[in-house]
Amino acid sequence: MARPLGVAIVGAGMGGLATAAALRRVGIEVAVYEQAQQFARLGAGIQVGCNAMKVLRLLGLEARMRQQSFYPRSWNNRDWRTGEVKFDMIFGESAERKFGAPYLLAHRGDLHAALASAVPAQCINLGHKLVGLDETGDGVKLSFADGTTATADAVVGADGVHSVVRDILFGATPVNFTGRIAYRTTYPASLLGGETIGDCTKWWGEDRHIVIYYVKPNRSEVYLVTSQPEPEFRIESWSAKGDVKELRKAFAGFSREVERVLAACPDVHKWAIVDRNSIEHWAEGNVTLLGDACHPMTPYMAQGAAMAIEDAAVLSRCLDGVEREGVANAFRRFEATRRERTTRVQETSRRNTWLREKTDTDWVYTYDAWSVPLAA
Ligand SMILES: Cc1cc2nc3c(=O)[nH]c(=O)nc-3n(C[C@H](O)[C@H](O)[C@H](O)COP(=O)(O)OP(=O)(O)OC[C@H]3O[C@@H](n4cnc5c(N)ncnc54)[C@H](O)[C@@H]3O)c2cc1C
Repeated sequence: MARPLGVAIVGAGMGGLATAAALRRVGIEVAVYEQAQQFARLGAGIQVGCNAMKVLRLLGLEARMRQQSFYPRSWNNRDWRTGEVKFDMIFGESAERKFGAPYLLAHRGDLHAALASAVPAQCINLGHKLVGLDETGDGVKLSFADGTTATADAVVGADGVHSVVRDILFGATPVNFTGRIAYRTTYPASLLGGETIGDCTKWWGEDRHIVIYYVKPNRSEVYLVTSQPEPEFRIESWSAKGDVKELRKAFAGFSREVERVLAACPDVHKWAIVDRNSIEHWAEGNVTLLGDACHPMTPYMAQGAAMAIEDAAVLSRCLDGVEREGVANAFRRFEATRRERTTRVQETSRRNTWLREKTDTDWVYTYDAWSVPLAA
């Protein structure tokens, strides 16, 4: 029997871990290399769309995700001041039946930990910052900042919006700063002093918005994320703190519910919102990009991680049964299968009109990465 394909994955974010789990399902050996020394539980929520949940189901994570996440009746879209409902996107059981999986609201740390639980710890190498890649006769050689190296039959660059793998393959190009920032945080719902809030509401203002939802099944934790203009701010880092007083000021005059949530908010992170245009190629030889490394997007559809997770399932199908000589073709097939969809989501997300009024959402949530036809 031929020896199993060995794939190195750069980055242990949502996309890298989902890819590791999906590739192992089809008998591929994986080694994940992550620059961070340890995983941190960062204060953020994440919407896990029905399309992503279909992937997580086959990775064995559905029960865990249901147990740890909030199951909203809808994603409601309301006017910032009057509270008028613009479009109430119903989730809950009817959407679960229609789209084939639940729509869940999770703590980002819970989703990340769930994905990590699907990959044996010995496959994950922390403290490995990739700095170089070379295709050799023996495979692809990876070089790390600490001077160590590794070799694999193929490499997946799941190293996020500032991907070093992309820079190595295609040259460095700057990200697109949107001129907008996001404040975000999670905090205990007990700080709301007994008041309840909507399950998941996006409050649409004139040049800014705020999304607020629960991230725990018993409504014990609240998450908020904003988008507002601030062209000079260019830091994307979990260590960048925002000023809660500034945040409250920026949303003064918004509905009472927003005021209450901001009044109770103890502290907040501040993050520059970036994206990129769709890039021309994702792969070169036996190296491919995946997730934010090739199709980063603004957060306005809550689909960035979902796209990376879908990528993982499709990539595993393209590589299933393939030997080293067939990898480059399999990577081209992966890109051909995924490009149109991810570009459409990038472009739709950039417009920031998703759900602002009655919206056709079927094309996003119906998609099943396990059964969608693969490109020829
Ligand atoms: C404010 C905000 C809200 C969002 N909300 C949602 C949402 O509700 N739903 C949703 O689906 N998506 C959401 N997203 C998008 C989502 O966070 C991203 O699309 C997703 O994290 C992309 O996953 P990834 O694995 O491609 O990249 P990342 O999660 O960025 O992971 C990349 C990993 O690679 C590592 N890495 C980087 N460089 C190197 C290197 N040289 N060597 C080794 N490792 C390296 C990094 O440390 C990191 O762990 C949101 C994004 C933002 C900014």
